[in-house]
Amino acid sequence: MSLILHAATVTDVGLVRTNNEDSAYVGRRVFAVADGVGGMPAGEVASALVIRALVELDDASGAADPTEELREAIESANQQIRDQVAADPMSDGMGTTVTALLVAGDGIALLHVGDSRCYLLRDVDFKQLTRDDTFVQALVDQGLLSPDEARTHPRRSLVTQAVQGDELSPAVTVLSPRPGDRFLLCSDGLSDALTDAAIARTLRSDPDPQHCAEALVRLALSAGATDNVTVIVADVAEDRR
Ligand code: CA
Repeated sequence: MSLILHAATVTDVGLVRTNNEDSAYVGRRVFAVADGVGGMPAGEVASALVIRALVELDDASGAADPTEELREAIESANQQIRDQVAADPMSDGMGTTVTALLVAGDGIALLHVGDSRCYLLRDVDFKQLTRDDTFVQALVDQGLLSPDEARTHPRRSLVTQAVQGDELSPAVTVLSPRPGDRFLLCSDGLSDALTDAAIARTLRSDPDPQHCAEALVRLALSAGATDNVTVIVADVAEDRR
């Protein structure tokens, strides 16, 4: 059985910022969110660059190992950022998170760097599939902070890994999706503004991915989203072509 994703993306600059450093892509095989690392220069250049590298996979046959395809695309983007920084030292520190799904037959590969998240809603279960590369997540892992405390911690957006030209170890996994599964990819502008419970409730509230993506962004804005907010809602279906 081959799978297909029916997906929609919505992005908003948020209530405070004047520029949107997030980039997102919804394609045939590739679904990705990237968030130019906050406070660093040229964040939006970096997020656009990593998305461009992933878009090239959309036309690939899908015969290759999808985890390798994702790794190579991210490494290529990482190299381009390294080259850009070498050519223009003023852009030093430009970086981006990336969370990407790549469909290959009946599987989906997931690659993750940084703090843009992937969640899965399957029947009654709702869970976060990615583990944030952040300072506060490391404290949670050590039992020094509760997940609730992490959500409001002043240093919560400090990422411990980004695509920024340095050596990189992306988390890459292969998922076994089922028709009816719903994925959410989002930048931290969403997950900072809303609790997991609110996100899950909204994902369950509307079968249409576009409406659902709009509802999530609307909720984040009404919760006072200070950051850029970007979401992709992607529903798994059987490909009957
Ligand atoms: Ca952000």
